[in-house]
Amino acid sequence: MIKHCKPIITPILKLFFPIRKETIITWGDTIYVEKGVIMKEDVRQHELVHIKQQKSSKWYGLWFMIRFITSKMFRTEVELEAFKAQYKYICDNGYDKKFHLEIMANELSSELYGSMMSYGGAIKLIKKQ
Ligand SMILES: [Zn+2]
Repeated sequence: MIKHCKPIITPILKLFFPIRKETIITWGDTIYVEKGVIMKEDVRQHELVHIKQQKSSKWYGLWFMIRFITSKMFRTEVELEAFKAQYKYICDNGYDKKFHLEIMANELSSELYGSMMSYGGAIKLIKKQ
């Protein structure tokens, strides 16, 4: 399901990650996309992976969030799975691969995810199927 607001756990996430209006957050079975923010289909595919990872449950999702905040390894693992699915969708649907790969690698290596890897590393890992 999609809600056009931020989830109630946002203040906690904000202590650790630079979350902005444009930041889409998935918690449990819900994708939170603020009003005025457009979620493209490839991004929706990314968020659907996070729903699956959280077993569509807000309670499991809380556990997921705690691990996401505290473990760089966990964060890397779940985000890579989601970015790979997004990249696969991009490749399968005739999007500009290079352009989107650069955007995704930029994001994955950014502060938003706690600077968990280098840009070059992100490019390599997203492409690797
Ligand atoms: Zn993600």
